Amino acid sequence: MCAQRKLETDVLVVGSGAVGVAASIEAREAGASVIVMEKEETLGGAAVISGGGCALVDTVLQREAGIEDSHDLAFEDWIRQGQGKADEVWARFYIERSNDALFEWGKDRGVEWVAARQNEGNSVPRWHQPKGGGSGIWNALYNTAQGRGVEAWLTNTAAKELIVEDGRVVGVVAEDTSSGDTVEVRAKAVVMGSGGFNSNLDKVLEVRPDLREHRILEGSGRGDTGDGHGMIEAVGGTTTHMDDIWFYVYAIPDHLDENGRRGLVIRGVPDNIWVNAQGARFHNEDLSGGGTGAVAVMEQEPAYCWSVMDSTMTDGVSVSDPQYYAPGTSTNDPEKIKALLHESPHIKSGATLEELASEIGVPADTFNETVNRYNSGIDQGLEEDPDFGRPLSSRKMIQSPPYYALNFTPLARKNFGGVKTDLHCQAVDKHYVPIPGLFAAGELAGMAGGHINGKHGLEGTMLGPSLFSGRVAGAWAAHDAGYGDGFE
Ligand SMILES: Cc1cc2nc3c(=O)[nH]c(=O)nc-3n(C[C@H](O)[C@H](O)[C@H](O)COP(=O)(O)OP(=O)(O)OC[C@H]3O[C@@H](n4cnc5c(N)ncnc54)[C@H](O)[C@@H]3O)c2cc1C
Repeated sequence: MCAQRKLETDVLVVGSGAVGVAASIEAREAGASVIVMEKEETLGGAAVISGGGCALVDTVLQREAGIEDSHDLAFEDWIRQGQGKADEVWARFYIERSNDALFEWGKDRGVEWVAARQNEGNSVPRWHQPKGGGSGIWNALYNTAQGRGVEAWLTNTAAKELIVEDGRVVGVVAEDTSSGDTVEVRAKAVVMGSGGFNSNLDKVLEVRPDLREHRILEGSGRGDTGDGHGMIEAVGGTTTHMDDIWFYVYAIPDHLDENGRRGLVIRGVPDNIWVNAQGARFHNEDLSGGGTGAVAVMEQEPAYCWSVMDSTMTDGVSVSDPQYYAPGTSTNDPEKIKALLHESPHIKSGATLEELASEIGVPADTFNETVNRYNSGIDQGLEEDPDFGRPLSSRKMIQSPPYYALNFTPLARKNFGGVKTDLHCQAVDKHYVPIPGLFAAGELAGMAGGHINGKHGLEGTMLGPSLFSGRVAGAWAAHDAGYGDGFE
């Protein structure tokens, strides 16, 4: 029989990512005692490895840069991008409070916002970049939470089941994954922030059976396997919009993943072209986002493409994965990238275009024609390529051997659907009646409320709403436990 460890607190937060830090700060500031439970060995979830960008509206940084933004403009962009599927109440709630409740709040807690950048679907630049990216923002908030006196961060502790007594959630039964022991944490309120399910390919294919015939890669934080969804459903909670998944296509299979399921996101090669399995281009590669590039690649037969570049471009290749960072940083180690280029079976090279075509298994004549036609547009000084309208000025031709091709494969990155909650982040049942003692936030809750983005997102609309809903959940959970006035 395994030993049992029993702990007690006012507010238990499950998951140490964006929700973990935001909810714990909020609950501590209200005066509640807090324990955070994390199933992985390390803290931070997807948040700490993320780009850190948050969509924020009408901030001083925008105003100083002469960017004229407004709540109504952002709302219009948001709803259009969501293709009619966004939760409009949550979207407005977030947009109208993003400046005070994230930009200024974050600044007061050590986050340094450095720039507002443009992203697809936005009328103006509003993707706010924090210094240090995801690790910069997460570490600043983690240090704040530590400073506020979070009682314990229980790593290697996987929540398994919610404890319900008299219709109220009063804690969690978990497993200490290093010893196998059972850990029971009793709490007056529980905030679930266990993230999405995009590191669980089975779950992705369960909600998107149409993708079963394609190769799809897992691409969220390693612990984001959808545990919380099942735990909440088991106590009567409900999920919504589960098939709205945000895919990226600038990813290759991770050859070091023993299960062959994870992907590596590749960036930094603006001059690459995308060629399908028939050897042809099919899209303006500048439109590479989840709502454009991903859609185009997933319409190819089969649903992948080759990112083709020459030897002058490979220096720019960057890999958004901690395996390729220099120790203790979120910056790529050039030696590791070089090794990847030569060792990955998903990256091919050739001394000539014909040789590369043979390596990647596409017809050499079509491939040659594709590359030459694209190059000749640049050579002729055309403003845009006549086939897909890609702007060509100051673009590089693909002409310096050796040539490289990276096997871009759709990667499931972010969940836009999840556990349905009310505006206090209280999980609701199928009749939308709140479940006493149970709060859900972040990607588990489709970033906030169940489906704040809708079908597509504006970028920065994952981490931002996850931090925001984490705050809301933490404040109302503390209130439920007898502390503070809730989220103001
Ligand atoms: C590489 C990458 C880059 C990204 N960049 C951006 C960006 O620039 N802008 C943006 O808006 N979004 C970005 N995102 C998305 C964003 O990071 C997430 O949506 C956000 O972190 C979600 O916060 P969360 O707290 O809900 O989940 P997470 O931050 O993933 O935290 C969830 C935590 O719960 C833990 N957990 C899971 N199950 C259990 C269990 N049973 N018991 C205990 N703990 C458990 C997980 O291990 C994890 O640590 C990115 C995501 C990735 C993967």
